[in-house]
Amino acid sequence: MADKRATIIRGGRLINAGEYRAEAADILIVGDSIAEIGPPGLAAPADAIVVDARDRLMHPGLVNAHMHGHGNLAKGMGDRWTLELLLAAGPWITGGRTLEDKYLTTYVGAIEMLLKGCTACYDLTVEFPLPSVEGLEACGRAYMDAGMRAVLAPMVAEFSFYEAIPGLLDVMPPALQKEVERLRLAPGDATLKAMRASMHGWKFDRARVRPAVAPTIPHHCSDDFMRSCAALAREFDVALHSHVQESKTQVIVGLKRYGKTQTAHLDDLGLLGPDFTVGHGVWLDDDDMQRLGDHGSSVAHNPGSNMRLGNGLADVRGMLERKVNVGIGTDGANCSDNLNMYESMRLASMVSKSQGPDTDRWLTTGEVLSAATEGSARALGFGDRLGRIAPGYQADIVFLDLHNVNWLPFNNAVNQLVHTEDGSAVHSVMVGGRMVVENRRVTGVDMASLARRVEAARARLEETTVPNKQLFDKVEHVVNSFCPGLAKMPYHVDRFGGGHHGHEHIAYTN
Ligand SMILES: [Zn+2]
Repeated sequence: MADKRATIIRGGRLINAGEYRAEAADILIVGDSIAEIGPPGLAAPADAIVVDARDRLMHPGLVNAHMHGHGNLAKGMGDRWTLELLLAAGPWITGGRTLEDKYLTTYVGAIEMLLKGCTACYDLTVEFPLPSVEGLEACGRAYMDAGMRAVLAPMVAEFSFYEAIPGLLDVMPPALQKEVERLRLAPGDATLKAMRASMHGWKFDRARVRPAVAPTIPHHCSDDFMRSCAALAREFDVALHSHVQESKTQVIVGLKRYGKTQTAHLDDLGLLGPDFTVGHGVWLDDDDMQRLGDHGSSVAHNPGSNMRLGNGLADVRGMLERKVNVGIGTDGANCSDNLNMYESMRLASMVSKSQGPDTDRWLTTGEVLSAATEGSARALGFGDRLGRIAPGYQADIVFLDLHNVNWLPFNNAVNQLVHTEDGSAVHSVMVGGRMVVENRRVTGVDMASLARRVEAARARLEETTVPNKQLFDKVEHVVNSFCPGLAKMPYHVDRFGGGHHGHEHIAYTN
């Protein structure tokens, strides 16, 4: 039963995204949620726990709208990789995992996010060749143990990367074709059955860790499988998430396969709705954005990953104009290579401002902060209780140390939170009324012993994935000559921001 004890936070300054201010405010918490916010001296029960927030700026826990828990043991393993090279590297950098590894990789990510002011995430995790009840339980337990909230969506598909890109297998030597056959996924029916079993026996409080369904990339799935994923999600009242129009290669493959954009195809299949999140959406055109807006769907915007993988710069203003709900994410540590939501907010602002001199189209820092809190929370299906510090909402609160150099001087709460803060001022973090980070340490975590466990896992995985690394070394040049070729085909939108990718541009001379 929920603990109904009261907590009163006194002396802090509360950020106001809309008004760019941070006034002194006391916050009364009862149990896990915010009961009342008022001026300093707010009345509280005599036995309330008092939290001293003097010299602290309080902001809502950041919500990571798109990440991959399995990627946390792979941070820093790649550099000059496109999305397609990352997918090809997957069996090497995130393969061969034991149940303990699945727990550990998720747990390390949860610790990182908490230390960097993030209190909830949308985790698209993966198991090969199909999800398992025990695997998802291990990931869920990692979040419960860390004290963080998560939406846990197994990333599922029927076709391997090699089967999903038309023509890719054909350009591979027969011996190599044979080798990549071992990357085949389980049949769709078995995967759907495993997800159903997992959701049926879900062990965790859904207010903390809840399931979702993530058909990974549309063309990695048959239409029947996509429809079945949607039906399953709606049967269990959970959310849907898919990587849509992330890279230009994907866009071209989608057009070849469906004769229309992936978004238009998903609309025809009945997937779009308020429960649906597009991961990335870099290459959405105006019609795609309109469809998503009309359905009340979300986009998880991951600017760091989009730049790191050479996918381009998303048009977030275009999405907002068409009433798409926009959340912000880090993407996996295997491709961005951290889970720092402050950095993602800063990049979201920079990416929008780097696309041209029309300042009306730029995101404001207030819009960015709203996306990383309320927008992401809505994408997670937690829109009614996370993402705001307001009565009735869960008490997920980050306390920044205003004596940290990032806040010397304190000029503007919202501009500085988005453009200056990098996570180093995070002093403490509260989730559901309970402090999970205090004085820059996650409560109950011995970092030295965690480091030993992680290093042991890393060393073992380095050995057990040698065959997968060797396979990647063989396919790397094939993938990296074939896929960029697709990405050079003309398309009516350009998210490469001009410059040296000049193929789509008309020469303009006087
Ligand atoms: Zn992703």
